[in-house]
Amino acid sequence: MAVNPKIYHGVYERIVNGRFALLGSGLCFLCDSPLYKYESLLCTACSKDLPWNIKACPDCAMPTEEGVICANCLQSHRRPVQNAICAFRYEYPASLMIQHMKFHSRLDIAAFFGRQMLKHAFQQRISLPDCLIPVPLHPSRLAVRGFNQSLELARALTRVTWIPVEYRACTRTHNTMAQTDLSAQQRRRNIKGAFKIDRGFLLKYRHVTIIDDVMTTGSTANELARALSMAGVEQIDVWACARASIV
Ligand SMILES: [Zn+2]
Ligand SMILES: [Zn+2]
Repeated sequence: MAVNPKIYHGVYERIVNGRFALLGSGLCFLCDSPLYKYESLLCTACSKDLPWNIKACPDCAMPTEEGVICANCLQSHRRPVQNAICAFRYEYPASLMIQHMKFHSRLDIAAFFGRQMLKHAFQQRISLPDCLIPVPLHPSRLAVRGFNQSLELARALTRVTWIPVEYRACTRTHNTMAQTDLSAQQRRRNIKGAFKIDRGFLLKYRHVTIIDDVMTTGSTANELARALSMAGVEQIDVWACARASIV
């Protein structure tokens, strides 16, 4: 039977270094090598190889040289979102992990992304919000999928920060088309007026953070932020797992 060379290397390295005592339980999600106790979901090598979104526009999280503001944000008028962060670029293997989280209801992957978003926010010195608002799914889509990945990401963040999740503050009133194959302009039109805010849930919050899985043009987050701003929220940030771009 052929042995996965990465597993072989991982076991060999542990025997040579006499570190079996430090082994935890479980295997790396990406390479199947045994995890150490201090590792979670991914081994250190796979984690290092992820497409970290280190240098990015502070306004829209698009990767830029030296992390400066991007040309789009420089030209745009006042935007409802103050700070946007995405822990990763939407590239393999982060894209694979997001698909597993979303379509196979993997809560352990949501927990991993929650930790990475928080770490990223600390590194960017972004202040923590008063509450988290996951991007809602339309009830009919939620019924089919049975899982809102943004809500699970927000729950993962709550477990480590104690920041409340206000998932009832916002509902999706239109069952919009999937945004995947649409242009930037079509996406804006498609999502317009899709959210309804219940102000009663937001009265005590001045600063809220929208939680999403992938940001592409930012039209969904911007539309939700616009609705929150009209409901009286003063500061709105967006945290997402990954930043994609339309090619
Ligand atoms: Zn690995
Ligand atoms: Zn930007």
